[in-house]
Amino acid sequence: MANETFDLVVIGAGPGGYVAAIRAAQLGMKVAVVEKNATLGGTCLNVGCIPSKALLQSSHLFEETGHDLAAHGIVVGAPTLDFAQMMKRKGEVVGATTKGIEFLFKKNKITWLQGTGRIEAAGKVSVIGPDGAVKDTVAAKNILIAAGSEVTPLPGVAIDEKKIVSSTGALELSEVPKHLVVVGAGIIGLELGSVWRRLGAEVTVVEFLDRICAGIDDEITKFFQRALTKQGLKFKLGAKVTKAETTGAGVTLTVEPAAGKNGGGAAETLQADIVLVAIGRRPYVAGLGLDKAGVKLTERGRIAVDAHFQTSVPGIYAIGDVIDGPMLAHKASEDGIACVETLAGQKGHVNWDLVPSVVYTQPEVAWVGKTEEQLKAAGVAYKVGKYPFTADPRSRANAATEGFVKVLSDKTTDRVLGVHIFGAEAGTMIGEAALAMEFAASAEDIGRVCHAHPTVNEALKEAALASWEKPIHL
Ligand SMILES: Cc1cc2nc3c(=O)[nH]c(=O)nc-3n(C[C@H](O)[C@H](O)[C@H](O)COP(=O)(O)OP(=O)(O)OC[C@H]3O[C@@H](n4cnc5c(N)ncnc54)[C@H](O)[C@@H]3O)c2cc1C
Repeated sequence: MANETFDLVVIGAGPGGYVAAIRAAQLGMKVAVVEKNATLGGTCLNVGCIPSKALLQSSHLFEETGHDLAAHGIVVGAPTLDFAQMMKRKGEVVGATTKGIEFLFKKNKITWLQGTGRIEAAGKVSVIGPDGAVKDTVAAKNILIAAGSEVTPLPGVAIDEKKIVSSTGALELSEVPKHLVVVGAGIIGLELGSVWRRLGAEVTVVEFLDRICAGIDDEITKFFQRALTKQGLKFKLGAKVTKAETTGAGVTLTVEPAAGKNGGGAAETLQADIVLVAIGRRPYVAGLGLDKAGVKLTERGRIAVDAHFQTSVPGIYAIGDVIDGPMLAHKASEDGIACVETLAGQKGHVNWDLVPSVVYTQPEVAWVGKTEEQLKAAGVAYKVGKYPFTADPRSRANAATEGFVKVLSDKTTDRVLGVHIFGAEAGTMIGEAALAMEFAASAEDIGRVCHAHPTVNEALKEAALASWEKPIHL
């Protein structure tokens, strides 16, 4: 492989890197991907989206079987948990998905260089083995950094992946904890907190801010927190964890008011057998050789890129979690496609303003575009249309009536500016809203599209009608 020249060398095989590689190969480029993990797929496939959704689905079925079937006239005894089988299935889902990427690499004739990629200079990448020695050096007409992100550490709370775990450890617990304390009420903390609560853990969520899930529309957040509380999650908002002591029995956490001891309230201690640190993720740039190559970072430590994903060094590009924008798998993939299409002479572009987000709890939360708070802050005059799932016949038939759809549209032009959904199938529904908004739809446009009956998407149509003029069924 030494001195072989590739049109594109991608560093990192997450949803940003592997998708970019496949698209580049489709466009006729000779592509290599350097990946240090033993499997392809990055955070998303190995320790992120896929294993967490496998456990969310299994734990949801467990809870549903225990609580919700009687209303349908299905009588079963209390379900028992085959924990080993649930975890085995999760592993199998991950295995099949990562193997699928290996297959796609072979199909598209993409070379996987196993090891850590280090940029020596524009046009030159070394592959470092586990012993730290250079295994290979390849020439690259273009280099694409897709190195992703890692867990943001919390000072005073050292992660050991046994009792104090990151999301990675929380997906691999050896048994259901009695008391799980989640530090951080963001998407990952609430999803994994929900998994373990459904399986029988007491779960306390400690959050620095006085609200959960910063960035979600305020009104949705209030309903969301209420639902999670009803399900049994306990919240300590406006509180910060300042110390963690591991004992034989578990972990003793010191929790103080976020405003500091003088800001009101005394410090308290919480006993947990497992603590999940989920305060966010930060770009992973270690070992890439960025300094040497002259690749500049932003003030927030992400790789700085221009509108075409080029870094400060011509011929070196970056996408996904290592650069600005939402840290989401589908955004990383779209970055990758746009970047390599531009390299191939096409016109790639990603609209980061219309990247949909989903919280895969039950009910789910999903949104795309602006929140009411953002519109107010920007001084945009807007209309609100809401429609509850209680008024939607399919949701009634499904016994899933909690939540509502909210459509925000421009007061003058009626253009849809934001869609926010709290409901059982919000994550699937939001795709329609994203599509409509990419085509600059008005609320009237969505409201006039013929939706199949009975489907939950009729609630989006009705909310759009409510934003434009009036809903039919309310
Ligand atoms: C628990 C959890 C749940 C999540 N759930 C969702 C979800 O439901 N939906 C969603 O959209 N997002 C979710 N995310 C976020 C999502 O995983 C990331 O946004 C996404 O993986 C980013 O893709 P990426 O390609 O930029 O980086 P990554 O997926 O992080 O991949 C980067 C890859 O680069 C490799 N690498 C790094 N440096 C080097 C180097 N020098 N040499 C070789 N290889 C290197 C790494 O080993 C890794 O494989 C979740 C994350 C977590 C942790």
